[in-house]
Amino acid sequence: MKYYKKPVVVEAEQWHPGKLVEGVCEKAHNGFMDNPHIHTLEGQMEVTDGDWVIKGVKGGYYPVKNDIFLETYEKVVTPRGDTSGKGEL
Ligand SMILES: [Zn+2]
Repeated sequence: MKYYKKPVVVEAEQWHPGKLVEGVCEKAHNGFMDNPHIHTLEGQMEVTDGDWVIKGVKGGYYPVKNDIFLETYEKVVTPRGDTSGKGEL
């Protein structure tokens, strides 16, 4: 049997040093992780300039490299003529 993954809409924001992005932790934890990182369900993952921070469907955040992000994600476009912003997710 073959399956394809259902499209899922997620919130994502690109991170750059000095930019405040929800989910990114810049605290040092006893020298263990001094660089900006994300506390994911699988542990701490470092974020580097240009990484995207994605809010998972079940909550929680995880980083995705810019090239991977551009390859796998498409921006949700609000229908033309709709200026109410309600088409925005
Ligand atoms: Zn932290």
